[in-house]
Amino acid sequence: MARNLDPKCKQCRREGVKLFLKGDKCFSIACPMLKRDYAPGVHGPASKKGRKKRISSYGIQLREKQKAKRTYRLMERQFKLYFTKASKMPGDTSENLLQILELRLDNLVYRLGFATSRDLARQLVTHGHITIDGKKASIPSIQIKVGQKISVSATANDKAYWKTQLPKLAKVEIPSWLALDSAKHEGQLVSVPTRQDLPISFDPTMIVEFYSR
Ligand code: SF4
Repeated sequence: MARNLDPKCKQCRREGVKLFLKGDKCFSIACPMLKRDYAPGVHGPASKKGRKKRISSYGIQLREKQKAKRTYRLMERQFKLYFTKASKMPGDTSENLLQILELRLDNLVYRLGFATSRDLARQLVTHGHITIDGKKASIPSIQIKVGQKISVSATANDKAYWKTQLPKLAKVEIPSWLALDSAKHEGQLVSVPTRQDLPISFDPTMIVEFYSR
């Protein structure tokens, strides 16, 4: 499956917000957004040179869509498929889209603290480290249903990565719509999150406007 291989920090700088793509580095002083929170390029920050770029409403909608795509590490084709699916579901399309994105297995592995980034979460899933209700799951895009349990596979437990990551689970702050048993290395989807539950850096209604043009 195609993946977004563009330099991660440049993607944050392009969008002007922290997208938290590099795990622990994003929470350290090494995050480039602390010193250079302007778009990458040889000309430096436009605002310091007295040039402030005017952005059209299309441009604003496009940037919101790009932020979401980059946050969830998706390519355009998959993201558009999710939008089409969301628009056919009953209810608010922007809420539906958020729910589809959030209920992906790789996203939940990240939210539960099993991985420090969504890229790493995806890798853990494809390498067979994760189970759903006790059965091995290797497809990152699987949609998780309320009540399902996501666990670290017993056979993966003794791998070097988990030896350092599992002790950290006790300190992970879990959102109210998830539950985590850090001793059992097992999480559960308690309810479907709404927009208010999610710390997102993009406006999903703009994404709906973008694709509805
Ligand atoms: Fe890089 Fe993370 Fe900072 Fe983004 S938030 S610029 S990915 S370190």
